[in-house]
Formats: sequence, C-alpha cells, structure tokens
Amino acid sequence: MTSDSVRPGDLFSCRCCGDCCKGYGGTYITENEIDNICRYLGLERNTFIRRYCQMSGDRPVVAQGLNGYCILWDKVCTIHPVKPRMCKNWPFIENILVDATNWQAMAASCPGMRTDFSHNQVKRCVNEVLNKSR
Ligand code: SF4
Ligand code: SF4
Repeated sequence: MTSDSVRPGDLFSCRCCGDCCKGYGGTYITENEIDNICRYLGLERNTFIRRYCQMSGDRPVVAQGLNGYCILWDKVCTIHPVKPRMCKNWPFIENILVDATNWQAMAASCPGMRTDFSHNQVKRCVNEVLNKSR
C-alpha cells in the first residue's frame, strides 16, 4: 500500500464496543444537530435539552447517564443516523491535526484504531474525513 492510497477505512473500523460513549465525553451539539435529533426522536426542543443535555459554559453537550455512558447510549447509539458530527467523525477529529500523537493516545482506549501508520498518513485521512463533513 503506498502512502497516498491509505484511506480512513484502513486506519479505523468500529468494533461497536461502546467504550467511546462511556464517561463524560463533552460532546457538543449544534443548533442544527439538535433540530435533527428532535425530529428523529419526535421530541420538542426544550424537552430534549432538559432530558438529554447539560451545559458546558453556554453550550449544550450531550449529558452522561447514571450508568456512566452517554445518556443516548443503550447498547447502541440510539440516535445513530443523526448523531452529532463529533461522534460521526470519531476518531477523525481536529485534535489529531494539532498533535498527531493524539491518535496513539486515543487508540489506547479504542480497539478499532490502528497505530501502524505514519503521522502524515493519519493526518491526511483526518483531513479527508473532516473536509467531507464540512
Ligand atoms: S471505542 Fe472505538 S471501536 Fe469502540 S465503539 Fe468507540 S469508536 Fe467503535
Ligand atoms: S451520541 Fe451516540 S455516538 Fe455520540 S456519545 Fe452518545 S451514544 Fe455515543
């Protein structure tokens, strides 16, 4: 495999273990994402925010449930088709572009991530995913 032919799917394949949905993830949700999730769940906006969000500064983030998982996790992500961009892109996130060693750190708790690619290959794939999602 040449360096340029490496695709995001070569670096990561989700095992659906749910570990990344555990703990306080600080998952930001945008206004549009809230609208989409509310449509999907058939909930009023205020009800969704009251039941499923907590504030981080002045921005809503998805709350953590009593079982330690994201409140929207129930063996699977219950809003999978409309989950926030941060979740859709994971683990191809901006932080990797700031410091590619974050990839290795994240991989320690994500069995779906491979660590046998160079920082440049990882960054190129992160850019590819982020550019597609903009
Ligand atoms: S920790 Fe990794 S493999 Fe497990 S569900 Fe999250 S992204 Fe998928
Ligand atoms: S919204 Fe879904 S994918 Fe994102 S942290 Fe919650 S359960 Fe996981």
